[in-house]
Order: sequence, then C-alpha cells, then structure tokens
Amino acid sequence: MTKNHSVHSYDSLMRYAEFLGYGEIHTKVDEKTGLKAIIAIHNLKRGPAIGGCRMVSYSSVDQAYEDALRLGYMMSYKAAINNLPHGGAKAVLIKPKEIKDRQAYFEKFGEFVNELGGRYITAVDCGTSPQEMDLIARRTSYVTCTTKRGGDDDPSPLTALGVRRGIEAAVKFKLGKDSLEGVRVAIQGAGHVGYHLIKELTAKGAQIVASDVNLQALQHCIDEFGITACPAEEIYSQEVDVFSPCALGAVLNLEHIQRLRAPIVAGSANNQLAHQRYGALLHERGILYAPDFLINAGGLIHVAVIYGHGDIGKSTAQIMDIYHTAYAIFEQSARENKPTNEIAERIAYERLQE
Ligand code: NAD
Repeated sequence: MTKNHSVHSYDSLMRYAEFLGYGEIHTKVDEKTGLKAIIAIHNLKRGPAIGGCRMVSYSSVDQAYEDALRLGYMMSYKAAINNLPHGGAKAVLIKPKEIKDRQAYFEKFGEFVNELGGRYITAVDCGTSPQEMDLIARRTSYVTCTTKRGGDDDPSPLTALGVRRGIEAAVKFKLGKDSLEGVRVAIQGAGHVGYHLIKELTAKGAQIVASDVNLQALQHCIDEFGITACPAEEIYSQEVDVFSPCALGAVLNLEHIQRLRAPIVAGSANNQLAHQRYGALLHERGILYAPDFLINAGGLIHVAVIYGHGDIGKSTAQIMDIYHTAYAIFEQSARENKPTNEIAERIAYERLQE
C-alpha cells in the first residue's frame, strides 16, 4: 500500500484521485456550524463504502483532501482482501479552532452522510468517539460504532488480535511451528496496538523485545509483561524470528531491510513499505512479509460486522480468519515466486473490479 505522493493543487489532487482509482469525492461546507467535511468514496462495487470519520487539524485543505483520498483507497483494499461486503471510504473533518455547538456540528455531518443515500457508512477514527457517532445517528442510519451499536473508543485490541493471527500464520508457514511458544518477536512501538499485541503474544508464550521513543509506554509494558527493551534504532537488527512494526509507516526502507535478521515481518503499522519495490527486496532476501493492510484490518472488520448487526463474537471469529487469508497468500507467493504484497494487492484489486 504505497501509492503515496505529495499533491499541491486541484490538478494534482484530481490526478492523485485518478491514480488511486477513485471514485467519488464529496465536500460539505457549512458556515453556521463551522463544518468543513470531505467524504472520499473509493469504490462501491462490493457494497456500500465503509470507513472512519477523522477530525484532525490540517496545515492546508490540500493536505486534508490528500489524507481522505489516501485513507479511503486503503480502506477499499483492506475490505476487499478480507472479503468484506464493502467498498472503502474515509471522511475527514477539518478541525476548526473552536466548535461552538458540537451537537449541531455533528448533526450537520450526519445530514451530509445521509444525503449520500447509504453509499457511505461512517465510523469512529482519530478525533471522534462513539459519543460523536450518537450525534451523527440523530440524522442518519448510515453510522456504526454508536454507544448502542458496537461503540468502543479503542479498536486497538481487535487490531492486535488480527496482527497476532497474521504472525501465527507466518510462523507456521516460514518456521513450521504451530505455536508461538518461545518464538522471539521484536516489536517497534508499544503504543495502543503494540501494548495489546505484547499482551496477546506473551499470553501465547512468545518472547518479546520492544522499543519505543516514549519510554513511559515502554516501561509500562516491561512492568506488566516482563518483556525486554532495546533502544529505538536497534530494533531492526534484533536476533529474532519476527520483526513487528507497530509505530510508523515507511520503516521498510533499504537501510532497515539490510539490517533485518528476522525471517518474518508482520506488524500493524500502515504503509510499512517505503516503496513498492521493497516488497520485492524482502521476497528476494527470503523474508516473509505479511501485508500490512491484510493483517491490521481487525478494527475495520469489527466495524463492518457490527454494522451488519453481528456481535463481537462474530467479528472476533472473522478477525481470527486473518490467519487463513494470510496463509493462502504466503502459499500463492511461494508458488508464483512473487512478493506477498503484490499477490495481496492483485487479489484485492481484482475483487474491486468485479
Ligand atoms: P500509537 O500512537 O498509540 O502508538 C505508536 C507508538 O509508537 C507510540 O507509543 C510512539 O511513541 C511509538 N513510536 C513513534 N516513533 C517510534 C520509533 N521511531 N520507534 C519506536 N517507537 C516509536 O498508535 P497505534 O494506535 O498503536 O497504531 C500503531 C500503528 O498501527 C500506526 O501506524 C497505525 O496507523 C497502525 N494501525 C493502528 C490501528 C489501531 O487500531 N489503532 C489500526 C490499523 C493500523
């Protein structure tokens, strides 16, 4: 998932949208409430488009559009590879300096979602919570993650579960092991997902070494799970079975790949490959890469299941299935001698054309 490039004008924004295979881009400006919202619907072929609504500050409007386009595209691929009956979309609310009337602001956004007639289903993301979803639900039924409907401020435990399943599939495929007992994992980032991943993996008997630039977050995991810590820059060269990037995007660059000693890379961070070609480099080096957009989709799967009136049991079962999806991609990658990210992206792309 490395279709990134910077855009600085309407011309290049439109070219970027075309390049990503869009789709629809809708804008709503409402002076009274201060709402400035973008909804980028990437694809509708598999069903209504689903994706979170984020409210963050942007240094420019172009940047907000770029974010919406990039994230909506990624949602389509996450949904398609995990066989969800949805296309991908993202809503971006350009955070105003002050929201005078929060209820009116989010109700206005709810009206905007409703005007799209169900082509877009909204959910929580950075800067929004189930409380905001409740306000949106006053104006539209195309909303999930409300306090009544699966609402949870933090999707990280479910994301971590999916990543754990991706790691288990990779460990089985690459190392022939049915269990994580004694498997050594280097985790970059002990934040929301990192914390829950450490919890999942230590419960399965894995040995963890972790790094974080936030030493407090790291210490918390050391105290609670008895893991080993290492300096941030040393995480790549740890003598482990799995390197798990759970902090930043673009960490799989030439320098870092050359330093890797792990035969497996599997983590939660979005856009881990600094460039598409690094997927091929990992493949050439015999390092098994679990595609990020496949194994970090636990939160999205949950949101989609809840919208379809399923419960946490159903979404957990579907997230557990990430194991089988990942394993099949590893097998296909070996059969065709092609990088795993290329295989996964091709499958998702083909599903989006059906
Ligand atoms: P977070 O901000 O809670 O945690 C990230 C952690 O990484 C922080 O503790 C931060 O201090 C640390 N960090 C930053 N730079 C670092 C560095 N150079 N070395 C080591 N640690 C560093 O974020 P999160 O919610 O845990 O998400 C982690 C990654 O997973 C992000 O890339 C995010 O986009 C992706 N992701 C998260 C979810 C989710 O459910 N939260 C879902 C899908 C994808």
